[in-house]
Amino acid sequence: MPADVDPVFVGIDIGGTKIAVLVCDDQRRIHQRGEVPAPAAEGGAAMADAAASLVRTLVGGRSIRAAGVGAAGVIDHDTGTIRAASSTFTDWVGFPLAEELSQRLECPVVVENDVNAFLLGESDVGETDVLGVMLGTGVGGALLIDGGLRRGPHGAAGEIGHTPGYSDLLCTCGQVGHLETLASGTSIALRYAERTGQAADGARDVAARADAGDTDARAVFRDAGHALGLACASAATLLDISHAIVGGGVAHVWHLLQPGIDDALGTDAPITGIPLHIRPATRGADAVALGAIESARSLALASVF
Ligand SMILES: [Zn+2]
Repeated sequence: MPADVDPVFVGIDIGGTKIAVLVCDDQRRIHQRGEVPAPAAEGGAAMADAAASLVRTLVGGRSIRAAGVGAAGVIDHDTGTIRAASSTFTDWVGFPLAEELSQRLECPVVVENDVNAFLLGESDVGETDVLGVMLGTGVGGALLIDGGLRRGPHGAAGEIGHTPGYSDLLCTCGQVGHLETLASGTSIALRYAERTGQAADGARDVAARADAGDTDARAVFRDAGHALGLACASAATLLDISHAIVGGGVAHVWHLLQPGIDDALGTDAPITGIPLHIRPATRGADAVALGAIESARSLALASVF
């Protein structure tokens, strides 16, 4: 069969601002990629329509073996339904995303939490036990245990951003002291503003100031890195994990986080003595869709038998 009519696998990254799609073949070679704005305020059906339309445009006349989705929110993995999500998304909670996309694309569809998909997309072959941390607007987390995602009985495992004890600051969730109060992009800008009395235009602005020699900006990133290092060390100690992969916009300025991470591992390394490697993500904007493709491949394999 000629390559251009072989069935393809599709990975879909559904976020609050954009929907990105990768199309690959059986050998994981990427053939097409594309993205469109996400109509998050228009409801689940509009999101499914936008995603399906983009996929159809990219796939053309080829059939789809299976599609995987990485979507924001808590996912009921068995049904592919969104169980909880941020208020950015209208009519998203309760939306049967897998079923709706499966009807539109006429193929099996599996839906994964976006941070879980990120971790699948970023972890290397042979890395069977890995913590994934996403430092974006908030802080998300995911766990790969014994080579498989640990989702938890409610689909909510790995929420390291809302573990307590890192500060006395109010978190976006309403509680106090969570990792997210120091390590999210939003928090980095807030902490800088509190410290200096000068408003910052997001974490990127604080990073630019740090790189220009602003010691307060550097200290805010050092605090973020320290909290991140402590969180990774706690997870590693609890779960015998020796790798952590950190993604999201804040991880782009790794050189500003590294001093704090080193401080944390210097004083609070896992007591097991097993080295903990904390590294930045390397697959950029493709990571979630690549992980979604891995989920689709697993689904296709499982449905063969
Ligand atoms: Zn919180």
